[in-house]
Amino acid sequence: MELLSKLPGIGPKSAERIAFYILRSQGDYAGSLTSAISEAKSTIKPCRTCRNISERDICEICSSPDRDGSLLCVVEHPNDIIAIEKMGRFSGRYFCLMGALSPLDGIGPDDLKVNDLINLIKEKKIREIIIATDSDQEGDTTALYLSRVIKPLGVRLTRIAFGIPVGSNIEYADQATLVKAFEGRRQFS
Ligand code: ZN
Repeated sequence: MELLSKLPGIGPKSAERIAFYILRSQGDYAGSLTSAISEAKSTIKPCRTCRNISERDICEICSSPDRDGSLLCVVEHPNDIIAIEKMGRFSGRYFCLMGALSPLDGIGPDDLKVNDLINLIKEKKIREIIIATDSDQEGDTTALYLSRVIKPLGVRLTRIAFGIPVGSNIEYADQATLVKAFEGRRQFS
């Protein structure tokens, strides 16, 4: 219960319910769950190109010939990629920052591997960068910082529009809102 309550969104009550559910479960549910967790932990690693989680060195999205390599969407977390993929309208590739700038928490551009992003933009023939960081203070700070460092590279730079409420996360946005946010993306002035 103690360990379960450390999971995001799981309070002590839910931890208790989950623990008893696992204890009472039929068949080898508990065994399957533990082996799935340890297998995922040992086989899943960051993609070498985009830093999305992957079972291979280069993830499926980066290696797929069907994706538009000239379109790059910058997100904070792999969950955001899952949400955008569910939307089913984006055919480009991603770069995952694995966080957002937060001077108070000591998270700077090096932690987000911004240099890797810059190199990626230079190496691939990128036509447009879509910044899809969250609509909160860290997400806004990150978007502004990225716009400053990317602008000199001369690529089209946009940020998704937020029908998504201010302060909220992309991963929780419903599909219709996310579609609107992408369609209404604005160019950095
Ligand atoms: Zn990748």
